[in-house]
Parts: sequence; structure tokens; C-alpha cells
Amino acid sequence: MSNGHGTCLKCRGDVQVFGSRWCQECWYPGIDDGYQRYRDLIEEGHSRYQAKVMSGWGDPDEARDD
Ligand SMILES: [Zn+2]
Repeated sequence: MSNGHGTCLKCRGDVQVFGSRWCQECWYPGIDDGYQRYRDLIEEGHSRYQAKVMSGWGDPDEARDD
């Protein structure tokens, strides 16, 4: 609620572009597909750590605390 734009789903930083789910530093072509694959793996019962490893989403080292 601080800036009215939102929070990046990847790094939880501020999003500069209204309506985007990603900040400029995280965004790349196909990021939505990668994120969907990550979410699908979680829905299939994998942990967030496993889902990151299997989908290539983000750095698995960052997920250890999840
Ligand atoms: Zn980001």
C-alpha cells in the first residue's frame, strides 16, 4: 500500500510499472511462463524449494528459508 503499484512476485521489491507483477530488474521475456511452472509444481505437492529447483525459478539457495 506504500506506492500503489505493487510488489514484485520474485524479489518482493517495488514494482515501477503499474499492473506489472515484476520489477524491471527481475523481468525477462517468458518470466510469466516460468512463474506458472513454479506455481504448478507447488500445487502438485512439491515444496517451494523443490519447485524452484525443478522449474529453474530463482536461485534455490534463496528458498532455503521458505
Ligand atoms: Zn523483482
